[in-house]
Amino acid sequence: MDLRARAAELDATDPLGECRDLFVPAGAGHDAVVAYLDGNSLGRPLRASAERINRLVTHDWGTRLIRSWDEQWMDLPMRLGDRIGSVCLGAVAGQTVVADSTTVLLYKLLRAAVAAASPERPEIVLDSENFPTDRYVAEGVAAETGAELVWLHPDPATGVTVEDVAGAVGPRTGVVLLSHVAYKSAWIADLPEITRVVHEVGGLVLWDLCHSAGVLPVGLDAAGVDLAVGCTYKFLGGGPGAPAFAYVAAQHQGSIRQPIQGWMGHARVFEMGASYEAGEGMRAWISGTPPVLGMVAMEDTVDLIESVGLEAVTAKAVALGDFVVAAVDARLAASGVRVASPRDPGRRGGHVTLAHPRSREVCAQLWGEGVIPDFREPDGIRLGLSPLSTSFAEVAEALLRIEELLG
Ligand SMILES: *Cc1c(COP(=O)(O)O)cnc(C)c1O
Repeated sequence: MDLRARAAELDATDPLGECRDLFVPAGAGHDAVVAYLDGNSLGRPLRASAERINRLVTHDWGTRLIRSWDEQWMDLPMRLGDRIGSVCLGAVAGQTVVADSTTVLLYKLLRAAVAAASPERPEIVLDSENFPTDRYVAEGVAAETGAELVWLHPDPATGVTVEDVAGAVGPRTGVVLLSHVAYKSAWIADLPEITRVVHEVGGLVLWDLCHSAGVLPVGLDAAGVDLAVGCTYKFLGGGPGAPAFAYVAAQHQGSIRQPIQGWMGHARVFEMGASYEAGEGMRAWISGTPPVLGMVAMEDTVDLIESVGLEAVTAKAVALGDFVVAAVDARLAASGVRVASPRDPGRRGGHVTLAHPRSREVCAQLWGEGVIPDFREPDGIRLGLSPLSTSFAEVAEALLRIEELLG
């Protein structure tokens, strides 16, 4: 298999190929990026976002000054949340808000769900392959509340199955916390079916959408999901440290309350009242002043996803992933490289992890040459395949370099 030739063919017929020109060019000279395969960790900025951030500083902040809070910023968390909800999450308006980091929103949602569950349901079900912050927050909530953690131990090369969950939940289940797409393997958990299984026993689900938002359809409303959280600086292009989003299904908004009651979530913010009264809808999930500077860039990526269609984004993620798998089978397997992600594109998100005992040193070498994937413990090279910005040619260059380094 001639990887460069095959990549050229795929790029030539890629319906999203032109999107790449919309991004800020990635480095030149000694700083040149040959292949950026970390868009699932820090998405590349759109040129439109550079302009939008500049406008924010010079106009909204620089000229309109504090008047911008009234003119646009007070409603920004809900307005952006609704945009992400409608374009990426299958959520109708009024259920999604952009506020704190993923970690903090996860705490707020999990803590709230544990408080809402009856005392006969003290268990939080989670898995050992989830992202560290999810596990650490759950440990903290358990220590704080006396909730009991029930651990699933899925195969690291795949992920949590419906059967795993069915075998762990029951009348003592309060909340099930899972990632939709596994951050290492890219395994897509069966969100609708797992949600159904948890609801059947009377539990709540809290889905982490960090690695699916903006690349895969999620369908929160259709699946009847209770709570969800997700990142905006990965596939949603919000920029480093951009705040996350939280989803609380409309049916729970009257009954589930968040633990960090702050003035910005109050029903009448500027009344500065004597005591807390939760704001209406998703305003109640805001705590303090939201990070406006970090919020605005994601809007350009959401607009772009809407204009090309999320189905086209997903289709390209599949095509990029299939290209990697085919290349490993045809060439890199001979150097001892293994695919540590699902081969079935229907079960694989927007990245592919390759396993090899020398992955750590190979990744360090690649970074020095402008080929940028992620090293993931213990032996993974994770190739982030961000459909709007990644070309097949970039993927080919990275694979050829990995092959050479291992040859
Ligand atoms: C990226 C990621 C996070 C990040 O949390 P932050 O609070 O934004 O640092 C959390 N959970 C998962 C599953 C992630 O992939």
